[in-house]
Amino acid sequence: MKIRGAVLEETGGRLEVGELELAPPRAGEVLVRLHASGVCHSDQNAIDGTAPARCPTVLGHEGSGVVEEIGPGVTRVRVGDHVALSWAPSCGTCPECLRELPQLCSTAWPALADGTLLDGTTRLSRNGEPVWHYSFISSFADACVLPERSCIPIPDDVPFAIAGLVGCAVTTGVGAVWRTARARPGDRVAVFGCGGVGLSAVLGAAAAGAAPIVAVDTEQRKLDLAGELGATDAVRWEASAEATAQAVADVSGGGVDYAIEATGRTEAMRAAFLSTRAHGAAVLIGIPAADAVLELPPLSIPRLERRVLGSLYGSSRPERDFPLTLDLYRRGRLPLDRLVTHTLPLEDVVRGFELMRSGEAIRVVLELAA
Ligand SMILES: [Zn+2]
Ligand SMILES: [Zn+2]
Repeated sequence: MKIRGAVLEETGGRLEVGELELAPPRAGEVLVRLHASGVCHSDQNAIDGTAPARCPTVLGHEGSGVVEEIGPGVTRVRVGDHVALSWAPSCGTCPECLRELPQLCSTAWPALADGTLLDGTTRLSRNGEPVWHYSFISSFADACVLPERSCIPIPDDVPFAIAGLVGCAVTTGVGAVWRTARARPGDRVAVFGCGGVGLSAVLGAAAAGAAPIVAVDTEQRKLDLAGELGATDAVRWEASAEATAQAVADVSGGGVDYAIEATGRTEAMRAAFLSTRAHGAAVLIGIPAADAVLELPPLSIPRLERRVLGSLYGSSRPERDFPLTLDLYRRGRLPLDRLVTHTLPLEDVVRGFELMRSGEAIRVVLELAA
């Protein structure tokens, strides 16, 4: 079928919306009519080369929609199901899946890096030439074909924009608090970087009963929003990592149990580590450049049992965590709609990235179907 999609021709290039060919789903695959897609910093990382993708590619990995067709053997979803899309279709049988680490599935990751589906091929093409998938999803388009394990059924009354965000930013942020850190009521939490992922971590910390919750950012506007979403204290980024960490320690009564880092900047990672108290942990979510080096003073690691925890996709299990997160949203316990500051049509995708880079938007959502 013919679709419209936003194609990145080459790393460092510009996104252009054009017509492509989408082949039908094969065994274990699903065709989804896309309704919404968030615009995420990982897409920006693919554009500017911080985390290069195989090109040409249709970007977008924070999507939701309705199942339109299923390939042979598909049992998880039916035609007409509303679905939120996961970019981590774990296989269930590799060593990482068997160790209960589906987010690190060693079957899915090589295919994701190659820009293919799980069988090593692509369903996207243009004038007979292959176009590659991005993170299995390629949601800057009218429709996509993806693994059935990427399709998580959701209630029909959940807005597609919210379901899309749960597919990446929200799960990454709330999962870092709930699953990676396993924060409990009364734990002290700081969140470095109050964009879509960081504010999701604030929401997750508030829902978990953490207190205080210290928001850290360079922009007062984002700190104000963090306060509306449950942060108890705000720290404006200071001149250095040390000074910022000291400010967090001062307002938190001597340091936090979990410092969630959502910017990918090594200075913010250092500040997160230094803002923890004894046995505290810096939880690193943000994606740095591949050659970045993080310098930490190591004495407090044995002496105070300070820790550094990596968190990918919120250490989550989408089949369990997407429905649970959306249930909390429907009950009014997670105001995820506050994250959506702009909605745009697919044609305005370039403007969506401008709004994100300028810091004007928390989350831009593309509306893909009427
Ligand atoms: Zn993302
Ligand atoms: Zn696996």
